[in-house]
Amino acid sequence: MSAAQLTVCRTVAELRAVLGERREQGETIALVPTMGALHAGHVSLIERAAEEADCVVVSVFVNPRQFGDSADLAAYPREHDRDAEIAAEAGAGVVFCPEPAEIYPARFSTEVRVTGPLTETLEGAHRGPEHFHGVTTVVTKLLAIAAPDVAVFGSKDAQQLRVIERLVRDLHLPVRIVRAPTVREPDGLALSSRNVRLSRGARQQALSLSAALFAARDAVVAGARDRETILSPALAVLDRHDVAPEYLELCDSEDLSSLETVTGDATIVIAATIGGVRLIDTIDVS
Ligand code: AMP
Repeated sequence: MSAAQLTVCRTVAELRAVLGERREQGETIALVPTMGALHAGHVSLIERAAEEADCVVVSVFVNPRQFGDSADLAAYPREHDRDAEIAAEAGAGVVFCPEPAEIYPARFSTEVRVTGPLTETLEGAHRGPEHFHGVTTVVTKLLAIAAPDVAVFGSKDAQQLRVIERLVRDLHLPVRIVRAPTVREPDGLALSSRNVRLSRGARQQALSLSAALFAARDAVVAGARDRETILSPALAVLDRHDVAPEYLELCDSEDLSSLETVTGDATIVIAATIGGVRLIDTIDVS
């Protein structure tokens, strides 16, 4: 798809009109929600979406309701023209980039919450559960607006993905959620829109997140089963890079509750703020 064939919609009415026509022509629809500053990770999601449906819609919306920290919200990169080009190149047919007032008009008063440990632990404990309430509110809106057959989310945001899957199951939302794998730099760093804010030195330190996860995974592959034996090589890597994680957890893959012993599928999650940039990463082990 070239940029010339891309339809850019800024309002809900425009998007609905465009997608209504596509549906009338018999096309199925896939949605890829993003906050923009698109990188190869997003591209892989868009390519996956194009395999899943005829028409791929990429939403680009820096959702103010999922940012507790207003400085983080203000610093979040915004590059709409570049994003539209990248999305088109990757196979998107439609980009939806609304202004905040389009999504949250005056007197907006509804919130969609997934409650319990899934939104209160890990990211929920550090950013506050309001972060996930902001995510579920905007994702519900995007699903209601675009009514896609399929929506694609990255596994890198392990907890967000599980929260969204819970939301969709609990509310019987008529959409299939597809999990896409994490795209990394050749040296292991997980791609993130926030990476552009890392200084050279901070980027070097940031490498310790993926290196720590790989060390933990190697321990599992070598036969380690208990939490301490799995996580201590990861902590040693972080220590060598002088990085103190906000959390490093061995979790049950299904609900991300803490695990003492690996008996089946497990997920290791990590978060750290490096040079003022908050980064997360994750790896699945079994
Ligand atoms: P964001 O723009 O950061 O909100 O992310 C939009 C979508 O892209 C989410 O589903 C993320 O999980 C996914 N994503 C972000 N980084 C990566 C990555 N490195 N690899 C694959 N997917 C990613």
